[in-house]
Amino acid sequence: MRSHILVIALLVSTAAAQTAPQSSGSTAPESHLLHLKGLDPNLMDKTVDPCADFYQYSCGGWLKQNPVPPDQSSYGRDTELAERNRLILRDILEKASANDPKRSAVDQKIGDFYFSCMDETAIEKKGLAPLKPELDRIAAIKSKAELAPVVADLQLKNVDALFSYGSDQDFKNANEEIAEADQGGLGLPERDYYTRTGAKDEEIRKEYVEHVSNVFKLLGESPTQAAADAATVMRLETDLAKASLNVVDRREPSNLYHRMPVKDLEGMDPAFNWAVYMRDVGTPPVQSMNVAVPQFFKGLEAVLQNESLADIKTYLRWQTVHTFSPMLPSAFVNENFNFYGKTLQGAKELQPRWKRCVRYTDHNLGEALGQAYVDRTFGVEGKTRTLTMVHDIENAMQKDLEQLDWMTPQTKQRALEKLHTVVNKIGYPDKWRDYSKYDVVRGDALGNFSRGAIFESHRQLDKIGKPVDRGEWGMTPPTVNAYYNPQMNDINFPAGILQPPFYDSTMDDAVNYGDAGGVIGHELTHGFDDEGRQFDAKGNLEDWWTPQDAKQFEQRVACVVDEYNGFIATDDVHVNGKLTLGENVADLGGLKLAWMAYLAHEAGLDQNPKAVDGFTPEQRFFISYGQGWCENYTPEILRLIAQTNPHSPVQYRVNGVVVNLPEFRKAFSCKVGTPMAPEKTCAVW
Ligand SMILES: [Zn+2]
Repeated sequence: MRSHILVIALLVSTAAAQTAPQSSGSTAPESHLLHLKGLDPNLMDKTVDPCADFYQYSCGGWLKQNPVPPDQSSYGRDTELAERNRLILRDILEKASANDPKRSAVDQKIGDFYFSCMDETAIEKKGLAPLKPELDRIAAIKSKAELAPVVADLQLKNVDALFSYGSDQDFKNANEEIAEADQGGLGLPERDYYTRTGAKDEEIRKEYVEHVSNVFKLLGESPTQAAADAATVMRLETDLAKASLNVVDRREPSNLYHRMPVKDLEGMDPAFNWAVYMRDVGTPPVQSMNVAVPQFFKGLEAVLQNESLADIKTYLRWQTVHTFSPMLPSAFVNENFNFYGKTLQGAKELQPRWKRCVRYTDHNLGEALGQAYVDRTFGVEGKTRTLTMVHDIENAMQKDLEQLDWMTPQTKQRALEKLHTVVNKIGYPDKWRDYSKYDVVRGDALGNFSRGAIFESHRQLDKIGKPVDRGEWGMTPPTVNAYYNPQMNDINFPAGILQPPFYDSTMDDAVNYGDAGGVIGHELTHGFDDEGRQFDAKGNLEDWWTPQDAKQFEQRVACVVDEYNGFIATDDVHVNGKLTLGENVADLGGLKLAWMAYLAHEAGLDQNPKAVDGFTPEQRFFISYGQGWCENYTPEILRLIAQTNPHSPVQYRVNGVVVNLPEFRKAFSCKVGTPMAPEKTCAVW
């Protein structure tokens, strides 16, 4: 189950987490995490010429001091903050998990979830027993006609069985919540992992089959049977993958919008009993839905026709064990880590259990856990402070749009209308989510995990046919990330990111505008990137551009596509200019807007800000931006990011942006022709 297929995040972390265990954690001494700073000259490498490689200049010291810890696949300044947030969350959870009868209802839920997750001894002792009802139910399927109710049940529990289903705002009418069926059912990160040729891709597929085979062995199968079953899973998933769209094609909204009567879906895929599925999944009665990728359901029909029932059951068994592996005995956890953590992401060690359990609690009960987090770290004062900066950036965008020389007044008016309609969501929701219907039982780790998924699935499905809840958040308060949602036309900044080093109230304004300001500008620009620009002020997919303005826009973004296509992520893998276009446009526009906002702010001051540590305010603005992105990677995660993630590797989020800004070269006196001041530059907004 899920909603909003178009939400656009700031950082990499949300994307890889879908199939792979999200790697985060650190061996760094914990105390320094509580004193992160917005700008620290000690983190720079001043031996590097800023006009030669600005990322190295800003981050060189940090990169040397912070190699990727063994339980991670990447480690950046955002990870430092995530680590610091995690320490706070652990403290909250340890206190809540004491079995105090006077605990609040919220503390009972988060405390007992965390306690049960941490109780490895109990989990080992139970073995596979908690999963047995699911496996028995799959084993009991006697005909393909009986698949639908089991698939519905598994999907409610978050098992990625065959396809995905949920709710979403209608692309063309953002006020309407409708049902949505989409591609799904894969164990590898995305479509092209099944089809791409090349030695590395062959190797990953081989390791994946090996992993699936190992999981079947852990379920008690003989090596021969396990190998045969793993081959079945691979064959079936490859057929589903071939019918799917890849990550680049999924960035084009029109590729994902096909609203049709339910009977048309039934016509495409008659082998599946949709009526029974819809009844059992608990969807309100619907006449029509968005079938995001119609070709996928034709592919699904072929799979259901061609594969034997036994083989489909084998596939379902795999997806089920895979989903629940975090709450199964350590043999399953380790095997899962071996492929998703090690092979795909390059982590050397499994994260300590407490970090994983904090993450799962946040995932299942984020707005319960988030309440105490917000009280401790953010509060009303943080909200007010951030809102001021957001308004500064919005004013900068208004000025930028008014000054834009390539856009006609007609389109400008619509752009301004959209800008003025953007809703700002800062820190945490006005109304906390009610988890009273989610039963958390002390000692039932897997059950809590499963019921959490069911609670969330029903929450999503219950939206269908009801008014859109515009106060809803798509990220939990402690999350170190931010997003723009084109259908809501809102920008969202969780309290988790509005902390040092991204926002540091002890620092001068140049530092905060360069970092937090850049983040805010980034999200705002998403409303006007290649994807966001296709949605109007109300969040509807509607073309509000004159043909000549659209053409101008396309020419400008083509420059950005070319620029980023030229960057190498790792080995022979280039950055994909089309996949990362929206993010790159947002980075570029975001920093420009932050700069404009800073200048406007500076102009209103009684005194000009002074140089600090030998750097002018203008230089500090850019160094602060650069230091926001310092990050080390394993080669494996760089490959994964380049092939699946819409964000560019961080050095290009710094250098790829500043090369295009005249203000940057002026601040550092870079001569035209130096690497950071090329003759050809790109500008969109
Ligand atoms: Zn973004």
